[in-house]
Amino acid sequence: VTTVIIGAGQSGLAMSKHLSDRGIDHVVLERGEVANSWRTERWDSLRLLTPNWQSRLPGFAYSGPDPDGYMTMPETIAYLKAFADHSRAPVQTHTTVTASAGWVAAT
Ligand SMILES: Cc1cc2nc3c(=O)[nH]c(=O)nc-3n(C[C@H](O)[C@H](O)[C@H](O)COP(=O)(O)OP(=O)(O)OC[C@H]3O[C@@H](n4cnc5c(N)ncnc54)[C@H](O)[C@@H]3O)c2cc1C
Repeated sequence: VTTVIIGAGQSGLAMSKHLSDRGIDHVVLERGEVANSWRTERWDSLRLLTPNWQSRLPGFAYSGPDPDGYMTMPETIAYLKAFADHSRAPVQTHTTVTASAGWVAAT
């Protein structure tokens, strides 16, 4: 593939969507599951401190019934997973990147 994205958090998924929109082939390598940081590095009772109306990924704004509410962790994970599914992000889960190789572009 042309491009490798490391991590299926919101940055990696947003980048994936932009590449897809431009027809650039790529893969997203994720050591855990989509939204892994939210699944494994947050406490259960945490809610986003940003209101729902502020949650928007490329072409995928919050559209639920409570724009002034604050997502719980399960809702946040579901939102990111829904975006990954909606944008058909080519995520390869349980794949940890351990090194990257440099290369010299031909001139
Ligand atoms: C307690 C807390 C509360 C927060 N609350 C809010 C909030 O209310 N609103 C808000 O907008 N932001 C909030 N944030 C910030 C938000 O979590 C981050 O800005 C956001 O997660 C960054 O997205 P990211 O995609 O860059 O990184 P991450 O979401 O961390 O994604 C990185 C991904 O890369 C994967 N990865 C890392 N290394 C490798 C590797 N070597 N190989 C393969 N995969 C790898 C990880 O598993 C992970 O899935 C909060 C953060 C914390 C800690």
